[in-house]
Order: sequence, then C-alpha cells, then structure tokens
Amino acid sequence: MTANHSLPMILDEVEVMSVERISPTYVRVELGSPALADFGVDGPLYDQRIKLVFPNDAGNLPSFAGADESWFGTWLEIPESERGHMRTYTVRDVRGTGVDTRLVVDLVLHLEDGGSGPGSTWAARASVGDRLVTMAPRRGQVYGGIEFDPGTAKSLLLVADETAVPAVCSILEDLPATARGAAFLEVPESGDVLTQQHPEGVEVVWLPRDGAPLGSRLHEAVLAHLGEPVTPLEEPEEVDPDLWETPTYSSSGEEVEANAVTVGHDLDGLYAWIAGESGVVTTLRRHLVRELGMDRRQVAFMGYWRRGVAMRS
Ligand SMILES: Cc1cc2nc3c(=O)[nH]c(=O)nc-3n(C[C@H](O)[C@H](O)[C@H](O)COP(=O)(O)OP(=O)(O)OC[C@H]3O[C@@H](n4cnc5c(N)ncnc54)[C@H](O)[C@@H]3O)c2cc1C
Repeated sequence: MTANHSLPMILDEVEVMSVERISPTYVRVELGSPALADFGVDGPLYDQRIKLVFPNDAGNLPSFAGADESWFGTWLEIPESERGHMRTYTVRDVRGTGVDTRLVVDLVLHLEDGGSGPGSTWAARASVGDRLVTMAPRRGQVYGGIEFDPGTAKSLLLVADETAVPAVCSILEDLPATARGAAFLEVPESGDVLTQQHPEGVEVVWLPRDGAPLGSRLHEAVLAHLGEPVTPLEEPEEVDPDLWETPTYSSSGEEVEANAVTVGHDLDGLYAWIAGESGVVTTLRRHLVRELGMDRRQVAFMGYWRRGVAMRS
C-alpha cells in the first residue's frame, strides 16, 4: 500500500510518462505512479472508468493526502477556481507491473467545437512530466465502474461515438474468441479509424463523420442493422445530460423491468451497450426500448457527454 490516505481506491497523483497523438482526434497518454502498483480489478477491465482531476488555471492540483470517506464533499468545498476539474475517462489499457504500472488513456480533442473544456484543453498540451490526480480501482477492493455485463447473451451490439471508442476497443480485446455480434464506432474523421483486434465473430464497423452531423452515421447504421426503417436523426425534445440506464440503475429513476420483445424482430439473446453524446443515445434508446421493445435488462445506455454542457465531475 503506497497511498497516503485511508480510502479503498487509488486517489493519487500520477505523472504523464508518454504522449502520443495516435490520430487527428485522439491523444494517448501513459500515466504512471508508484501508487498504481495497487491498481487492479477482479476480472477483465472491459469499459472500466476512472476519474481524472486536471490542474486549475494556475497549474495546481488539489491534494488528497489524508483523505477519508468525505473526500468528495471536502473537494467540492474548495473554490471552483482552485480545486481543479474532475472528468471521467476509460482505462484503454494497462502496461507494466508493480511500481512501473501505467494506465493508458485515450483523450478526445474536441476539434469540432474548437477544443473547449479542461480535459480536451489539457490533452492538447499534454507533455511528459505533467501531473494529474486519478481515482481508480485498487486491487482486492470493490470499486465498480464496469457497465459491460452481457451475461449469457448470444449476440452483442456495441455502439460508440469517439468518447466511447476507447471503451469499446478495450471490451473487444477482453471478449472471448467465441463472441458474436457487431460494433459500430463513429469517429470525427477517416484518420481516426484505428486498427483494432476483435473476435472473428464480431463485425467492427468504423463510421467516420467527415462533416456529417454528430451521431447521424451511428443512428443510420444501427437502425439498418436492426432491420428498422432508416429515419433521419432528430434531436429529442428533452435530454438528460447525465443519461445513464443500465440493468441495475436508471438516472431517470424509472423502475427497471422487462419489456415484451416485439414480434417480428429477432432481438432475443441480444445485449446492447450504447454510449456517446446524450442526445444521440436518447434517440437510440427510444428506438430500441420503445419501438423494438427490447428488454431493459439487456441494454446499457450511457450519456458520456452532452453537447454544450460541461460534465462537472
Ligand atoms: C464512463 C465514461 C467514460 C469516458 N471515457 C472517455 C475516454 O476514454 N476518452 C474521452 O475523451 N472521453 C471520455 N468520456 C467523455 C468525457 O468525460 C467528456 O467528453 C467530458 O465532457 C470531457 O471533458 P472536457 O473537460 O474536455 O469538456 P467539458 O468541460 O465537459 O465540456 C466543455 C464543452 O466541450 C463539449 N464537449 C465535451 N466532450 C466533447 C466531445 N467529445 N466532442 C466535442 N465536444 C465535446 C461540451 O459539450 C461542452 O460544450 C467518458 C465519459 C464517461 C461518462
């Protein structure tokens, strides 16, 4: 145990060990610290999420030394201009072992909106030696943060925009070789199409937007895949920026109960994991649950970001 606090997870400073611009939209960083010797989960990482705290405008990070279970409230009490900015990211990979353990994170540069937001701004300037705080799972402790849970599903439908591509790439690498299904990955441009290892039975379809409206290529591809009439993507009237609906949790407070599977669609045995911009995910949710009657216990719909909204912590 290397931490200087009593929390069951890692909540420590990490250092940027390498930076690579892997494509026009993605900056890949390796984060290292002796504290990461304790990093680990019980089983595959799949879409394991972590928190990153970026420095405040003066370049300083908050200290979590001595933190206890009230750490989050204590951190929120620090004036906004001083406490830094907390955002959610995915562990794309883990390299090394022991005190040389490094977490690999792929950060999106929001080039289409001019690169706003502390996460995107930090990523654009990241250099070796920069420091962040990460909150991540500690081996042997319950942490959560993995939503991918297909159970005994016969077929998978994985749907992601650029923010969820790191999660789907990690899931694809962790799947058994016998897995079957399809993954649809929308990225801003052709140069963002990455080489990705995947089980032979899982078709991987990259959908570069190349100027098309956000989410439109995903929307069309998913409806066509499900045998639905392809209608244009329309922004829903109401969007919960923090949309989160999994078999065990609903951000709307809705009871999770089984829907009947509509006759005529062979959705039996399908598990769908859908993440990206909240408006786009809301529309896909409507199709899958309301129109196709997909069983809510077989889906995870996750708003990873919301157009025009800063995702505070
Ligand atoms: C479980 C989970 C896992 C995630 N994993 C990753 C990951 O591995 N890599 C990653 O890059 N992101 C990931 N995200 C998304 C990331 O947390 C958000 O994109 C977040 O808004 C980025 O913070 P920011 O400080 O850059 O922008 P914010 O301060 O949150 O937002 C500022 C502005 O930027 C806009 N914006 C935010 N994200 C984007 C975007 N992608 N494209 C265009 N405009 C945007 C907002 O609409 C807002 O107008 C994940 C989110 C969740 C919930």
